[in-house]
Amino acid sequence: MQITGEMLIGQAAVRGRAGSQQAFNPALNAPIAEPDFGFGSREDVDRAATLAADAFDAYRLLPLARRAAFLEAIADEIMALGDALLERAHAESGLPLARLTGERGRTTGQLRLFAQVVRDGHFLGAVIDPAQPQRQPLPRADLRLAKIPLGPVAVFGASNFPLAFSVAGGDTASALAAGAPVIVKAHSAHLGTSEMVGRAIQKAARQQGMPEGVFSLLIGAGREIGEALVAHPEIKAVGFTGSRQGGLALVRTANSRREPIPVYAEMSSINPVFVLPHALASRTQALAQGFVDSLALGAGQFCTNPGLVLAIDGPDLERFVDAAAAALGAKPAQTMLTPGIHAAYESARAQVQAEAGAPVGVGAEAGDQAHAAQAALYVTDAQHLLQSEALQSEMFGPASVIVKARSLDELVQVAKRLEGQLTATLLLDEADHDAARTLLPVLERKCGRILANGFPTGVEVCHAMVHGGPFPATSNAMYTSVGASAIDRFLRPVCYQDLPDALRPEAVQSANPLKLWRLVEGAPSQAAGG
Ligand code: NAP
Repeated sequence: MQITGEMLIGQAAVRGRAGSQQAFNPALNAPIAEPDFGFGSREDVDRAATLAADAFDAYRLLPLARRAAFLEAIADEIMALGDALLERAHAESGLPLARLTGERGRTTGQLRLFAQVVRDGHFLGAVIDPAQPQRQPLPRADLRLAKIPLGPVAVFGASNFPLAFSVAGGDTASALAAGAPVIVKAHSAHLGTSEMVGRAIQKAARQQGMPEGVFSLLIGAGREIGEALVAHPEIKAVGFTGSRQGGLALVRTANSRREPIPVYAEMSSINPVFVLPHALASRTQALAQGFVDSLALGAGQFCTNPGLVLAIDGPDLERFVDAAAAALGAKPAQTMLTPGIHAAYESARAQVQAEAGAPVGVGAEAGDQAHAAQAALYVTDAQHLLQSEALQSEMFGPASVIVKARSLDELVQVAKRLEGQLTATLLLDEADHDAARTLLPVLERKCGRILANGFPTGVEVCHAMVHGGPFPATSNAMYTSVGASAIDRFLRPVCYQDLPDALRPEAVQSANPLKLWRLVEGAPSQAAGG
């Protein structure tokens, strides 16, 4: 497929005229000369948003089987791009081909999972309270609830997952599954990859006879075209993964609209790992190695990177620190996604170093490797951590802080004071269960996923996953951005009172044509009638 540098607005390819940018190869530290990617204007935003609004009813009212087939066709078209897609993503992100191959599998798997969610229909949340004409003192009306999509969704892809959290990633897949048209703002860190995937979606939409406007891809600076997109009256929700600063800017824009809209921003998390005393003593070496492997994976560029390790001080913790420092020494420096992300990592490390002192362990030096991150491990104590904003802030990269606490009580105090997180991890033996019981109620309040005896990097895409959490992990702790429940972000309930059966949505029609499990008078039922 030829990459042209054009935007995709409905079924058209449109050359942006409001500036331009070349893609960049971080490993070579050089621009990718051809093509130039043209920036869109406010008129382009308006065209895409108007098309999406026009497509909305036509798309959401299609039979569910056609919506599911569209999602599967997108997955097929992404696979049909072949190795060229992986090679382009590799050139633009510096991520290894093996990792990108896995990420492509995750992306298509996600699309197929949502196709199944759509076919099942249970996301429609059908609830029926039949009429009670004889009820005294007043009869009850017939009341039926089903969910509908919010409307067109703006998606901001993430730099660190150029496939699975980008143009056809989880936000797009879940919004399309909900029945919402999608407009993606291409991430400037992988423009060619974005165009290739965008064209795959455009082709799938054409082949499946989807209404024009079900998908568009815009190019331009976040602060201009991204802000204009979120401010556009036809956009009804936003999905975002990236920095706290960027996410909060979009939340502000969304809240200052005449009609405020939800922004589901996944932003920043340091993912505390609590090493409980018996596990620390019995498995020191293995836990240290597991932690360092998780920390250094993908140059630490994961939102679930273990940025904080907490344990009770003593000889076992000293051994853990020594083992982790030794394991870190074997980790090579790795090219980061963009020069900006590399600079932000160096700056965050410098701030932590100013507070915690020199690292107790480092990975191999970057040498001549462009924009490569050297892994680093710092040690501090609980009181210092609690007084320092820098020590509690995300270092997006392969660096982490080990925190020495004086007692279990102090560990709990630290847990209580931490900001909201995507994950919290307990490394524990059976003899640690009492300590875990003390920590768990605090951790439940702080994060979206609690793990035992694992490491937080690696997020399964499935029905039970929660990739979310209280602020600043996300801007809305009620939802997940990964897994089947991510669809709920783009749906809202409508209650139909005394509507004739022929006019009701299929989900709540008496004959139950979708064969859904519905809540009838408060009890699950798959029966027709009612
Ligand atoms: P970013 O700077 O927040 O950018 C993400 C997307 O939002 C890009 O498309 C960007 O546009 C857009 N954007 C940024 N600021 C905006 C604003 N004020 N208004 C409208 N749109 C805006 O994130 P990034 O470039 O991917 O990475 C930078 C930092 O984010 C990292 O160093 C790391 O700290 C953090 N990060 C966190 C996660 C996570 O999962 N928690 C993931 C990735 C990155 P442009 O294309 O014009 O830049």
